[in-house]
Amino acid sequence: MHLEGIHHVTAITGDAPGNVDFYARVLGLRLVKKTVTQDDPTVYHLFYADERGSAGSDITFFEYPGARRGRAGAGMVNRVVWRIGSEEALDFWEERLRGEDVAVSRVEGRLTFSDPEGLGLELAVVETDDEPLVAESPEIPAELALQGFEGVRAYTSDPDASRAFLEGALTFEPRGENDFEARGERRGSFYAYDRTSDPGIPGAGTVHHVAWSSPPEEHEAWRQRVIEGGGSPTPVIDRFYFKSIYFREPSGVLFEIATLGPGFTTDEPLEHLGERLSLPPDFEHLREQVEPVLTPLPNPRESWAKR
Ligand code: ZN
Repeated sequence: MHLEGIHHVTAITGDAPGNVDFYARVLGLRLVKKTVTQDDPTVYHLFYADERGSAGSDITFFEYPGARRGRAGAGMVNRVVWRIGSEEALDFWEERLRGEDVAVSRVEGRLTFSDPEGLGLELAVVETDDEPLVAESPEIPAELALQGFEGVRAYTSDPDASRAFLEGALTFEPRGENDFEARGERRGSFYAYDRTSDPGIPGAGTVHHVAWSSPPEEHEAWRQRVIEGGGSPTPVIDRFYFKSIYFREPSGVLFEIATLGPGFTTDEPLEHLGERLSLPPDFEHLREQVEPVLTPLPNPRESWAKR
């Protein structure tokens, strides 16, 4: 049994309009779901992904308006890495990001930069047989677009603390000294450590958790494996778009294991994903209370027809 790579990465923003502009317009991802967190329905939960809202391409944000900026430290993800297809794509992104006044650093097939709130991001030229997960954008040719996650890097004070759990309970394969791969039948992603004992500060521009993909029929078995490996998972929680368990791996990073499906078309047609506020059925009765409190957001695709 192996996890099918990253399902989604969830981070925190203090500025939903700026977040939509950066991830939907600048990076060219599709806003595939605009909903609220089930733990606090006055808080936006925004999902950006490929055209179909696929697991493996999905970066999500909780919005706490005006939240102060955080800083990644031990037990936190410090960088989210996407695949791109070629050096030409890297040239394109270097120029595009510089044109947006984003400071970029390019080394050996990789471009590192930060989002407007300081979240560490990277685009890496990767050869893989995994299906490219691409969103449509009027400004970004499909062959140059982001293709889904390659992996995440996290800080730890002691990489060895997590090794037995990652390789044993989660069946990650070691790929280098502090580098692992979660690869299932369809997709894979890396999980790598950088060392620090700085505790970090949660806040805007930091990652909240990383979720790994499980076929629905294996989800309960993964929960048992986490328990047997010494972890303390939550019960299975129905997130409506997928089912989830949460636990901290030994280095302190919050992990989730989420099911592949039912997915984002469960309450909206594919062609209109993310255009209106989606509330799971148990939260629909709160719509009149919740909608006026949320920051108004544009439909990033509204202007496309006018181009
Ligand atoms: Zn999640």
